[in-house]
Amino acid sequence: MKVFVIDSNQQPLDPCSAGKARQLLAKGKAAVYRRYPFTIILHREVEESEPQPLRFKIDPGAKTSGLALVNDQTGEVVWAAELQHRGWQIKDALESRRSLRRGRRGRKPRYRPPRFDNRTRPDGWLAPSLMSRIYNIETWFNRLRQRCLINSVSIETVRFDMQKMENPEISGVEYQQGELHGYEVREYLLEKFNRTCAYCSKTDVPMEIEHINPRSRGGSNRISNLTLSCQPCNQKKGNQTASEFGHPEVEAQAKKPLRSAAAVNMTRREIQRRFFDLGLSVEVSTGGRTKYNRSVRNLPKTHWLDAVCVGQSTPDELKLDSVRPLLIKAMGRGQRQVCDTDKFGFRRKKSNGEFNAPRLIKRTRGFQTGDIARVQVPKGNNKGNYIARIASIRKTGSFTIKPLGGKKTFTSTYKNCQIVHHSDGYDYNLGEAFASA
Ligand SMILES: [Zn+2]
Repeated sequence: MKVFVIDSNQQPLDPCSAGKARQLLAKGKAAVYRRYPFTIILHREVEESEPQPLRFKIDPGAKTSGLALVNDQTGEVVWAAELQHRGWQIKDALESRRSLRRGRRGRKPRYRPPRFDNRTRPDGWLAPSLMSRIYNIETWFNRLRQRCLINSVSIETVRFDMQKMENPEISGVEYQQGELHGYEVREYLLEKFNRTCAYCSKTDVPMEIEHINPRSRGGSNRISNLTLSCQPCNQKKGNQTASEFGHPEVEAQAKKPLRSAAAVNMTRREIQRRFFDLGLSVEVSTGGRTKYNRSVRNLPKTHWLDAVCVGQSTPDELKLDSVRPLLIKAMGRGQRQVCDTDKFGFRRKKSNGEFNAPRLIKRTRGFQTGDIARVQVPKGNNKGNYIARIASIRKTGSFTIKPLGGKKTFTSTYKNCQIVHHSDGYDYNLGEAFASA
């Protein structure tokens, strides 16, 4: 993976190789600016720098989004990441807050006129759990934009391009007769008919695209006239229609669009809108296209490789060797709940009778939960050097330490810790390095 470089005025320069960065650091010409994403800052100004433009590519997902920076000219993947969202956590936290509130306000009821219908939602309102996914992606886009030149964005907005599949005429000859059209139609049918033969329900056999009203009798190539069948059934059906063959239900199912494909994903649309507003050149694409790009290049299915393969602009030759995706996990920034409750919703008291105020103290001795630190434990069971996340701080200065890379958590004093990356709402790990098969 490449290292981001900025000059002393924090102007982005071309990313450099890890070896080059090591050299610059060793010679004292640069310093580490941020650890995630790894960025170095030169000690000098660079006048008239013209960094190469990069393309930011996104494959948004409900749990995990793939992110990638690709150089369209060279086909080089400069940076890649998998960003894990916390949508469900947010939903749970809001539900918990709501039920605590209801309980509290219901406990000592006095009469109040109802005021439940005095709230409005602005146009285009999305649930907080959905917005958090959008904010995560936006945050990372903004962080990267400070470290390199991004002039275009590719984003996967829908799983299948329904409009193009229904009316192949609208998008020109290339799409109509190209390989991609057939591919996208096939993937769509596989998903719609659950990878089984529509007539005998066999799975795990080679499937053929089958015309419900056969071509020989004027049946069209439209998606609503297509289904999947195994070869024997296709043969047996010959030039009968599905109803004549004894399967009127297949005809009915084919007429209905696939729900997940028809419902455009709200989050994806909102992300797209926000990038359009920024005035960047935005390419929108479909999941079918991503999968096609990935399989013609023989790449395995991962979130970050999906991001690399989004859109028509994907370079033919991708340089992927030794790319290690950064695994980013959204952690939030702690809570502001004033009083802890037990599982029944009652306030928890400490032994001295005070109420427990769980996380009101955010910092102690210069540390905060979520800081990433170099931890040097001189003796004891956990003796050694670690790069670790400070999983939680305590006023006493005894911290819970979670080493990166999945080693066992332990407790250590703040005296052993030295911050290398201040808490920024995310947790980090490095994924497997890519090696071409
Ligand atoms: Zn069959």
